[in-house]
Amino acid sequence: MNHIVAPENCAGCALCANLCPKDAITMVWNKYGFLEPEVNTEACINCGMCLRQCPALEESEQAEKAENHPIAYGAWMKDEDILQQSSSGGIFTALARSVLNEGGIIFGVVWQTPDTAVFTSAETEEELAAMRGSKYVPAIVGKIYRQVKHELKKKRKVLFTGTPCQVYALKKYLKTIPENLLTVDIVCHGTPSRLILQKYIQESELKQNDKVVRVRMREKPEGWDPGLSHIALYFENGSRVSHRSNADSFMQLFLSDTMLNTSCYRCPHRTTSRPGDISICDYWGVANYHPDWPLAQGISGVLVNSERGAEAVESIKEQLIIHPTKSQHIMNRQCPEVLPYPVNRELIFNTLRNGSLKDTKLIACHTKAKRLEREINKMRRKQMRYYLLSFILFGKAKTKYREKRKKILQRMANTQIRLDALKN
Ligand SMILES: Cc1cc2nc3c(=O)[nH]c(=O)nc-3n(C[C@H](O)[C@H](O)[C@H](O)COP(=O)(O)OP(=O)(O)OC[C@H]3O[C@@H](n4cnc5c(N)ncnc54)[C@H](O)[C@@H]3O)c2cc1C
Ligand code: SF4
Ligand code: SF4
Repeated sequence: MNHIVAPENCAGCALCANLCPKDAITMVWNKYGFLEPEVNTEACINCGMCLRQCPALEESEQAEKAENHPIAYGAWMKDEDILQQSSSGGIFTALARSVLNEGGIIFGVVWQTPDTAVFTSAETEEELAAMRGSKYVPAIVGKIYRQVKHELKKKRKVLFTGTPCQVYALKKYLKTIPENLLTVDIVCHGTPSRLILQKYIQESELKQNDKVVRVRMREKPEGWDPGLSHIALYFENGSRVSHRSNADSFMQLFLSDTMLNTSCYRCPHRTTSRPGDISICDYWGVANYHPDWPLAQGISGVLVNSERGAEAVESIKEQLIIHPTKSQHIMNRQCPEVLPYPVNRELIFNTLRNGSLKDTKLIACHTKAKRLEREINKMRRKQMRYYLLSFILFGKAKTKYREKRKKILQRMANTQIRLDALKN
C-alpha cells in the first residue's frame, strides 16, 4: 500500500527517496503540480531515516551565516554563441567546461519532454548543451544524489548545480563534502507548478493545431532584459511561436509568485547565506551600479561562498569578462527574504485546473499587484519617517537615517518595477 507522507512545506528535494535503505519512497506529482514522496508501506521498515534528515522538518541553520557577505562578481561569457544560449551571462557553462576539461562530470537539469525537466549527468559538450537554459518547472531529482556519491568515490571531479534546496539536500545526503565536489546553487525565488506549463502547452497546441516538441524559456532574440527576452515554443511542423516574457501568460503566472511550491514561501535560502560554493543568477538592475557594462545579451551575478568556489572562479576567468561588484547590489532585485503565502492560492489553482490560463492570470496578477501596492505604501510611510528623522537629528544619527532612507527608496523603485511589469 502506498501513502503520501510529505511534510507541509516539502520542497520535493527527494533526499528521503535517496536515503531510504529499502527504496520504499517514490516521488510522485501531487495535485498542485509539485513532487512529493509516497511511501510503500509494505517495503518500509520504519527506520525513520527519511524523517530524521528531512530539511523541511529542521530549524534553519542557514540564517546564522547571513552576515557572512560573500565575494561577488558580475560576469558574462566571451563566447557569444554560448552567451546567447544561456539564460543569464553563461557562467554555468564556463564552470562546467572547466570541470569537463579535467575529466570531470556535471550534474544538472535537462528537458525530458516539453513539460518535464529532469536531473541527469553530462560528460560531453553535447550533453552539457542540453543543460543550458532555465526550465521553470520542478525538476525530477530521481536518485541523482546516489549517482553523485558514486562518481565522487571514483575521485572524479564533480560539479552539481541545482536550486539551493537541492544543493542543500545533496550536502545532507553526503554528510561529509569531499574535495572533488563543487556545488553551484542558482539563486531562486521559487519554483512554479508544472500545471502552468502543461496548461500553456495544451492551449498553444489547440491554437496552432500542432504538437509542441520543445520549449525554451529564456531566448534572447531582442535581448536579455525581462522586457525583451522571449519564451519560445517549437512545433512538430517546424514552426516557432514566441512571446516577450513580460507579456506572456506563462511567465506572468510564474512571476506572480502565487503558484510556487509551499516550501518556497518559507525558504531559508533567500539571503546571501548560500548552500553552494558559488551562487549564480541574473544580475537584474546591474545598470544602476555599472552603467558602462554591456547589458544586451545577459550578465550573471556571481556570489563566491567558499574557498573552493573562489578557486573555481579564478580558474574560469579566461572564458569570461568578469568584474567585482557588491553582493547587496546583486541581491537587491532578487526576491524579498519573506514571501507572503497567497491567501487565495486554492482559488488560483482551481481556476487553472478548470479554466483558462488567461482567467488564472487575471486572479493571480491581481493578487500580486495588491500585495506589491501594500508593500510600496508601507515603504512610503517608512521613508517619510526616516526623512523627518534625518531632518531633525544631527551628526551620525542624521547620516544613519539618510542612508536608511536611500535604501528604502531603492527598494521602492525595484518594487515599482515589479508592479509595472504585472500591468503589461
Ligand atoms: C526555478 C528557477 C527559479 C529561478 N529564479 C531566479 C531568480 O529568482 N533570480 C535569478 O536571478 N535567477 C533565477 N533563476 C536562475 C536563472 O534563471 C539562471 O538559470 C541562472 O542565472 C544561470 O544562468 P546561466 O546563464 O549561468 O546558465 P544557464 O545555461 O542558463 O544554466 C542553467 C542552469 O540552471 C539549471 N537548471 C535549469 N532548470 C532547472 C530547474 N528546474 N531546477 C534546477 N536547476 C535547473 C541547469 O542545470 C543549469 O545548471 C532561476 C532558475 C530556476 C530554474
Ligand atoms: S522536503 Fe525533501 S526530504 Fe523532506 S519529505 Fe520533501 S522530498 Fe522528502
Ligand atoms: S525558493 Fe527555496 S524551496 Fe523553493 S525551489 Fe527555491 S530553493 Fe527550493
